[in-house]
Amino acid sequence: MVTTLVKMHIRQLIDNRSSTYTYLVWDANSREAAVIDPVREQVGRDLKLIRELGLILKYALETHIHADHITGSGLIRESLDCHIGVHANAASQCSDLKLVDGDLIALGEVRLEVIHTPGHTNTDISYLGDGVVFCGDILLIRGSGRTDFQSGDPGQSYDSITHRLFTLPNETLIYPGHDYNGFTCSTVGEEKKYNPRLGDGARRDDYIRLMQSMKLTKPDMMDSAVPGNQACGLVE
Ligand code: FE
Repeated sequence: MVTTLVKMHIRQLIDNRSSTYTYLVWDANSREAAVIDPVREQVGRDLKLIRELGLILKYALETHIHADHITGSGLIRESLDCHIGVHANAASQCSDLKLVDGDLIALGEVRLEVIHTPGHTNTDISYLGDGVVFCGDILLIRGSGRTDFQSGDPGQSYDSITHRLFTLPNETLIYPGHDYNGFTCSTVGEEKKYNPRLGDGARRDDYIRLMQSMKLTKPDMMDSAVPGNQACGLVE
């Protein structure tokens, strides 16, 4: 009897201007693929890589409606006829899939499970694969995504991270949506121990107070990026 092992492959790509990570995820057997959080300025790079690797792109998935860059998902769909997935809470006029907690994305034999992890925005999705979670900006390596706009909520952020992500096995790899300090990935066990905001049993009320005390400036591109991303990046 021949058994074929399910194998998920991952490529992590970066947009240096916005420090955004884009991920290409595929099933090694069928070569069916998804791109997570593509950036509009990098679409040429991503399409070339997809072609070089011989992948069949099924989905362009967003972890949330971004405020700091414009998505490349609309342009990628124009080239490769994939389906765009965003959370059902996003006021998106252009997506094909309105995703909710518990949905499964199939890439051949590989499955990505949608976990709704709101708090950075109300559209946050983490995509859980076999031993890996792509968590967008809700949890960053040794940090967490800001909670002060786009229906962000520090209490929800704490609950999403501690009840949904920190209950995954400790060895689960964490691939975030951004990093500003040179890190590429982490693990659940590592963040539970060393994340300065949430690690080592940090209390919910302390976390809320900390997040509310931050005086952060508005992202430069916010006024154009949010409506642009609600239109899948298909704007001037
Ligand atoms: Fe974000």
